[in-house]
Formats: sequence, structure tokens, C-alpha cells
Amino acid sequence: MPDKLFHLGFLKVKYKAAIRDKTMKLRKGFLTNWRQMFVVCLLLVLCGRLIKAQEFPILVYHRFDSAMPGLTTVRTSTFELQLEWLEDHHYQILSLRTVTDKLRTMRDTNAPAVAITVDDGHRSIYAEMFPLILKHHIPVTLFIYPSVISNASYALTWEQIRQMKRSGLVDVQSHTLWHPNFRKERARLSDAEYEAFVIKQLTRSKDILSSRLGGQIDSLAWPFGIHNSYLENAAQRAGYKTAFALGGAPARAGGNMLAIPRIPVSDNDTGARFYRLLMDPRRNRREK
Ligand SMILES: [Zn+2]
Repeated sequence: MPDKLFHLGFLKVKYKAAIRDKTMKLRKGFLTNWRQMFVVCLLLVLCGRLIKAQEFPILVYHRFDSAMPGLTTVRTSTFELQLEWLEDHHYQILSLRTVTDKLRTMRDTNAPAVAITVDDGHRSIYAEMFPLILKHHIPVTLFIYPSVISNASYALTWEQIRQMKRSGLVDVQSHTLWHPNFRKERARLSDAEYEAFVIKQLTRSKDILSSRLGGQIDSLAWPFGIHNSYLENAAQRAGYKTAFALGGAPARAGGNMLAIPRIPVSDNDTGARFYRLLMDPRRNRREK
């Protein structure tokens, strides 16, 4: 009988030990799962922030007109509607330099943000767009090719550009020397001629803008959006830190800083259509 009791007592102790073991294992497992869940949550939050920080629609305009829209002409009233839409929907309009800094450092903004660029230096920039820039107090970057400035009747003058720059809202950067089609020039010229041509287009423009206007000229917009690795390397050697293409998509952190996509805006892009352009521009174009 005492043997039996001893045996039963032993079983009880063994049973308790087994339960304790199981509980410890469960506790351990629970803790491990919590740790895993925490890491997964943290990664999701970080990825979410990263994805948000990666998207900046950079808008590109060309010409403005008080009455007549065109293929690359936006009516002044449409441009103002677009600015008001951005303000009403709490978009920040950042300078292009701020956006490229954020793309480089993967820094976030508290609100959705866009940047505005205008290519080619058409005279309507001064007459039609500039008053609205002042009224709404927003930063804009102009990409111009110096060969036409104070030269062609359709182009801005150096004095108009200086006046816009003095407002502190307008930055001016390079669009090459005379807006060539690099694809056509490549087919026409020998290797050596093409190399000299590319260097001239990139460096002369930079030098002229710098001596005429001062400031840092380290951004380039590819004429017709044409670029490739040869041109990108040449731009980098010429001292450009960023270069902008077309492409119709928002700019994302981690992308090629010498081919940052921009979104061309047309006169049709108002209201919900403008919103879709910022969100998913390629879908918007297909719906046209
Ligand atoms: Zn252009």
C-alpha cells in the first residue's frame, strides 16, 4: 500500500512537471509569436511610410493662354482651377528641389505633395502663369533652353526671367542649349561628333544660365523626354545631379535620379479627372 501511494505521488509530481513544461513552452511560444508579430507590424508600418514617401506627382506644363486650349496649352482659368483643387484637397505644392531632396533621403511629408514644372520658356509663362504663382504663392521650376531667350518672339526675355526669379518663387534650370532631338542627332552624327554635340548641349546651357541668372544650375529636363544611359552619364559628368523625363507617372524614392518621371497636364485635367491624373495618370490617359 505505501508503495502504491508513493507511486501515485510520483505520477502526480510527474504530471505537474509536464503541465509546467507545457505552460512554459506555450508562454515561450506566445512571447515568440508576439515578437514576430511586432516585427511584422513594424515592417508593415515602415513599408507603408516608404511607399507613401516614394510617390510625388511632378506636374509639367508648357504654355498658357487666356482663351484657347491646345495640345500643350492649358487655359489660365484651368490652371487656376487646378491650383484651387490642390489647395482644397490639402496638397502641399513643394519646390522641385524639396521634392528631389525627399526622394533622395526617402523622407515623408505630412500631406500629399506635388511639384510644378514648366518647360520651354514660352512667353505666356510670364504673362499668364506668373500672376497666379504670385497670387497663390507657390513655387515653380522653369526648364528653359537659353538659345531662344530674348531671341525668339514666342520666348521669354532674360529680364522677365530675372523678375520672376526675384519673387523667390521661381527657379530656373536647364532644358539643354537649343532643345535638340537626341535620337535624330545620334542617327545623323558620327560617334565623335555626337559626343561633342551632347557635351555642348549640356554644358553650354548650364554655363549660360549660371552666368545670366546666377544660382545653382544642377537640374536638367530631357528635351522630348528622350534619355538613355549614355545621355544620363554625360549629364552626370556635366554636373547635373537630377534630370527629368516625361513618362506620366509619379516620382518614387529609390528610382533613377537622372530620369525622374513627370506628369504632363492638359486643359482637360480638372476635378475628378485631375485627381485620377495624380493618382494613376496612365489609367486616366487610357480613359480619354
Ligand atoms: Zn521641351
